[in-house]
Amino acid sequence: MIRGLVQGVGFRPFICRLAAKHNLFGEVDNRTDGVSVIIQGDLRSADHFSNDILQNAPPASQIKSIEIIPTEITNYDRFMIAKSKDHYGHITEVSPDIAVCDECLHDMANDPERIDYPFVNCTNCGPRFSIIEELPYDRPKTTMRSFTMCRHCRVEYNNILDRRFHAQPVACNNCGPVYTYKDDSESFSDIRNILGEIVIQINGGKIIAIKGLGGYHLMCDALNNKVVSELRERKQRDAKPFAVMFRDMDAVKEYCIVNDEEAKELTSWRRPVVILKQKKPLSESVSNGLNTTGAMLPYMPFHYLIFRKLNNPVVVMTSGNISDEPVISDDKKAESEFRNIADSFISYNREILNRVDDSVVRIINNKPSLIRRSRGYVPRPVDLRLDVDGIVALGAEQKNTFCIGKGHQALMSQHIGDLKNQATFEFLTESIKRFSILFRFKPSYIACDLHPDYLSARYAESLESDLQIPLVKIQHHHAHIASCMAEHGIEDKIIGISMDGTGYGTDGNIWGGEFLIADLGSFERYDHFDYIALPGGDKAVNEPWRIALSFIHRYCSRSFDLKLIPAFRQIDDAKILMVIEMLEKNINSPLSSGAGRLFDAVSAILGLCTTASFDSEAPMRLESVADSGTESFYPFNKGGPISFGDTINAVLADIGETPVPIISAKFHNTIAHVILELSEKIRNEKNLNTVILSGGVFQNRYLTERSMNLLLRKGFNVYLNHQVPSNDGGISLGQLVIASKLLK
Ligand code: ZN
Ligand code: FE
Repeated sequence: MIRGLVQGVGFRPFICRLAAKHNLFGEVDNRTDGVSVIIQGDLRSADHFSNDILQNAPPASQIKSIEIIPTEITNYDRFMIAKSKDHYGHITEVSPDIAVCDECLHDMANDPERIDYPFVNCTNCGPRFSIIEELPYDRPKTTMRSFTMCRHCRVEYNNILDRRFHAQPVACNNCGPVYTYKDDSESFSDIRNILGEIVIQINGGKIIAIKGLGGYHLMCDALNNKVVSELRERKQRDAKPFAVMFRDMDAVKEYCIVNDEEAKELTSWRRPVVILKQKKPLSESVSNGLNTTGAMLPYMPFHYLIFRKLNNPVVVMTSGNISDEPVISDDKKAESEFRNIADSFISYNREILNRVDDSVVRIINNKPSLIRRSRGYVPRPVDLRLDVDGIVALGAEQKNTFCIGKGHQALMSQHIGDLKNQATFEFLTESIKRFSILFRFKPSYIACDLHPDYLSARYAESLESDLQIPLVKIQHHHAHIASCMAEHGIEDKIIGISMDGTGYGTDGNIWGGEFLIADLGSFERYDHFDYIALPGGDKAVNEPWRIALSFIHRYCSRSFDLKLIPAFRQIDDAKILMVIEMLEKNINSPLSSGAGRLFDAVSAILGLCTTASFDSEAPMRLESVADSGTESFYPFNKGGPISFGDTINAVLADIGETPVPIISAKFHNTIAHVILELSEKIRNEKNLNTVILSGGVFQNRYLTERSMNLLLRKGFNVYLNHQVPSNDGGISLGQLVIASKLLK
């Protein structure tokens, strides 16, 4: 019996080929809890066989255990896939999309039916989640249904010993999908002409909308600053760093610093975008002033074909979306939405059923941390110790994901996005519908955020009244902590440190610098960052100088000359006076303990980001400049609540005296020491030794590594999120497990 993620990844054909290699008879069979293999022979050959399984398992599989059970069996005269018991009734596992494998790349150069064929795939690779509608995972249930296999493909599909045995998306030049090029004047589908046109356009500084595995990308030369800036302009002044695709690992290493862990993620079959430190600059507009690059390697056969023709080692490959809307997957929509962005369109005639953006990973403390969980990860379940069956958790507002419970597994959706526009909300409801069909899910319980205005929470309420099932509302930071506990199977009381920008607190204020004592069922707010007024509410979040002013107004002497700070020289006097008045008269200035706001303030004070043009820009710029060579830190006032008056005054005193990279590092070190000192205080009082760090702030590698090292040195057990993001993209998992505790 083989347990783990062994279904939909070509496992049974793999077992068949292995049995043939070992001259073994028997059968293989998909069960609800794994794959059962019966082989006829002695224990020694069973041992050899299972060793071979472990060593050569398909790349996307993940074996958790192989159990050998001696059994009396009837005489087999061959090795076969057991057809009779092959019911998928309870099987809930669908493979994520898998990057094209080396053997298929070889076929693309050598197999006469697949020369330059951009949809080559086999049981080890190719599209999965993005094309599947329903289980069982058979061709008629995928968007390959409209393509009839030719004789050549059918023979492979039916041959147990073939790498394409039961590969549902199997296709070749005679029978499969094709790409089409289109611009204002022409349209054609010859692959060589398409590739030739791509080379001309990339070199000519044009922008191409290109259909990927889970949605469209916008592609252009990453070394041509003019076209990258043009792309930003056309994408409604989108200021977020753009992801790039490098030709190969050598190209990545030419432009970025890559450690072993990062290389492992870059080349894994999931092929996420990995956040790397820059070594040699790309076009300046790619990362827009940050010292990191979001890099990925080719993962579709078509990407390889492009780089085979293109001399350029790197192209921008940014999500094809409009400002904050979800990635576009529909061809007609792409053509109309990108008409003013792209110079040409490259699409193909197979539908994308489940949209999946590129996933984003950052290596923190030598382990991958997910920043965006989508292609290559979804819909892999998170295994839990709790029964979460029948629960749907609707997540947060920003970086929304939802999560459904099947037995002891959490199935988290792909990254949906920020639920502030209709298109994203429709993506949410559409995806819930798809997950419900795919996993045969009917909700019996609902969980959502406590925030009264979150669209996801309102949707939860409408589901509650439509379906007449119980709804539980869960505090945001408790959910962050629970998401990490769930991943690590922790249920006991722990020290939960949750830091992010915004989450609704039980007192009606905005929380985000929280020291909780929590288990899965409940939490106590032990301490928190002191509240600070956000003059203008959301406006303050977009204009960090307002938050800087709020801190200074609160903690510095009235005679403080604002013009000593470079940041305020850029701001209109009238605006400054208006914000001071708002603070003094307490007009539209909600209170927040969000740690993100403190980072905003320091970033603004240092002149790194006075006005933010994308989410978390100010903290990202602050981290980006930090010099890791210093251990020193600023004073702070600990306990009841933790406040940063001394910190801010020390930062102000350092301006002009100390280089900005050192100030940034000292500030980060300060927060790491706050985390350490508070953890020690709680340990002494409550006798707890496990610390969970979760919330968007812990995407900050500098802070997280510093904090972890301090805590580990003092003997704490420290846990971070790995399977789901520590940012709001992981909230739905936390909600799911808390709901299970509260409702079941
Ligand atoms: Zn074919
Ligand atoms: Fe959050």
